[in-house]
Amino acid sequence: MRLTTLRTPDGTRAGRVDGETVVEIDAPELGALLADPAWRERAATADGPCHALAGADLAPLVPRPGKIFCVGLNYRSHILEMGRELPEHPTLFAKFPEALVGPHDAVSLDPASEKVDWEAELAVVVGAPVRRATEAEAEAAIAGFAVLNDVTMRDWQYRTLQWLQGKTFEATTPFGPQLVTPDELPGGVRPALDLTCAVDGETVQTANTSDLVFDPVALIAYISQIVTLNPGDVIATGTPGGVGHARKPPRYLSDGAVLTTEIDGLGTQRNTARAVVPAPV
Ligand code: ZN
Repeated sequence: MRLTTLRTPDGTRAGRVDGETVVEIDAPELGALLADPAWRERAATADGPCHALAGADLAPLVPRPGKIFCVGLNYRSHILEMGRELPEHPTLFAKFPEALVGPHDAVSLDPASEKVDWEAELAVVVGAPVRRATEAEAEAAIAGFAVLNDVTMRDWQYRTLQWLQGKTFEATTPFGPQLVTPDELPGGVRPALDLTCAVDGETVQTANTSDLVFDPVALIAYISQIVTLNPGDVIATGTPGGVGHARKPPRYLSDGAVLTTEIDGLGTQRNTARAVVPAPV
């Protein structure tokens, strides 16, 4: 099953994607749907108004997740090529919901940063409450997977040892277009999918999500030792090599740049970077 959140004149609505059509589900957005333990049946049987997928205005997949966890340094080949040891524990940081935008929205270039970079990532969406999960419980708690680009202000990220300030600038993180349930994907809850990121049509990142050191199941088991994961919570699983900051010379997003982020089977995001002009006070 494929699910989304679309914007309508009456506010956002959860939707089921059937081919080229989005069928409305009686829930204000995907997070609210996932909070109902019967979400799978509700989604499968919905027969609300239909929209053409091509013209749909898609919101962030889960517009207000209770938590957004992110993982650093998680692609095996990228870690090894940098001459580092594989990590014993995942590097975790967070992002706030205000950072999210829809899969076709503009990505904000804030005048406070001159080094805005891309990070194509596989996102895990939680579909049931889970705490101190066993492997089987972690597998069962996965609602599905989606594309996320952890767009990062590198100059702010590296001001201090803690990365958060560079990771949660407002309206910077495309999330969507669809949640795809594990039964539809090769590898299931440990999906093996090709991931790519392109800037102005030039491919800058390629990887396969089977190369993750800490896979989605392991991340849910690990994080749920810290805190209860709830329906609609999101885990961005980290990015492979090819980010702009590591290039020689470094490369960053500028006004008008088109960022295309794609994972086979999960869909494509297309976002234009736009300089933000702060309103006069
Ligand atoms: Zn990241």
